[in-house]
Amino acid sequence: MGIKVLKTVGEAAEDTADFQTKINDSIRATRHAERLDSLFNPAITILTGISFVGTIIYGGYLVQTGALSIGSLITFVTYLSALVWPFLGLGFFFNNLQRGNAAYERITTLLAEQPATLDKKGLKQVPRGDLQIDLTTFQYPDATEAALQNVHATVQAGNTLGLVGPVGSGKSTLIQLLLREFDQYVGSIKINQIDIRDYDKDTYLPAIGYVPQDNFLFSTSVLENIRFADPNISLARVQEAARWAALHDDIMNLPDGYDTQVGEQGISLSGGQRQRLAIARALIINPDILILDDALSAVDAKTEQQILTMLHNQRRGKTTIIATHRLSAVVQAAETLVFEHGRVEARGTHSDLIQQGGWYARMFAAQQLSEKLDQEVTTHG
Ligand code: ADP
Repeated sequence: MGIKVLKTVGEAAEDTADFQTKINDSIRATRHAERLDSLFNPAITILTGISFVGTIIYGGYLVQTGALSIGSLITFVTYLSALVWPFLGLGFFFNNLQRGNAAYERITTLLAEQPATLDKKGLKQVPRGDLQIDLTTFQYPDATEAALQNVHATVQAGNTLGLVGPVGSGKSTLIQLLLREFDQYVGSIKINQIDIRDYDKDTYLPAIGYVPQDNFLFSTSVLENIRFADPNISLARVQEAARWAALHDDIMNLPDGYDTQVGEQGISLSGGQRQRLAIARALIINPDILILDDALSAVDAKTEQQILTMLHNQRRGKTTIIATHRLSAVVQAAETLVFEHGRVEARGTHSDLIQQGGWYARMFAAQQLSEKLDQEVTTHG
């Protein structure tokens, strides 16, 4: 998956060398094992042969001197040949035991992995209602410091919560907690007064529409990509979701419309089209909670406003959470949290935050200016 990046940063040669070293190690170990293995069979055959020859020579001598009867010698040789295979079998048994042990160790290491979330059966209830976030602290399993501290917010059903702040300030981390990727935090996140960790994951997750930063297209038609949650959804419903995501006109311009193959083997869509397709995919399930994680970054300002207005009109009574770098996406939000170093540094509506000054006001002014410049360049050439 990283091959494009590797090539563009010129790391391909180093990576190939790493891979070559690993392959050489593997070849060396396999050769050693094969050498020992190929010695085993001839050695056993020679040893067995020698024991028979020895028995016959020495036994023959004893028969000659009268110390042993010929019957006893033949009995001895018969017993000897009967013992060869069981002893070989014992050897194979220990060999298998060793291999099995090595494999078993790998399996137990895998089985001992702890899931990052509590894997328990919970309430089979659709999470619907007010969202209450009361996080004291959350630390990633391997991290040394907390990624989130003292994050508190209440989002009434039907409202939009904005999450903004510099890169690495904790926006995506909060979203990961909402998506139950980690359960080990101090504090609680509740929907309809119920801790989200008490919901059954199989009922909880399908009720949440999530559009990630790096959306993924499956190698199938546009139609199947949009109705991925349920292939039985009608074409009319798919088209409605595509219209809401301002994608319908783009799809109609594709060679086979909704049947156009995309992804690995088909047409590759532009960044903005992929984002809108991912939004349509999330909207089609009409989720009670919709999470957009910087999901409008590649669409132009006008389309962004069109989609946001649609969300506002179509999702009455349903909650939307928007994490974004472009502040114009949260202007309508009932409340926006401004994160910095995992803490909420400021909060409020758009106008509250502009009045307070600080990071939000500075960033908004800068983004407005840059957009104006873009427009002027487009208008005047
Ligand atoms: P944002 O979405 O605001 O850009 P993130 O929530 O992704 O920020 O990151 C917040 C902090 O958590 C950063 O310091 C980041 O390095 C850290 N972080 C993110 N993901 C992980 C992870 N899987 N393990 C450890 N630390 C992480």
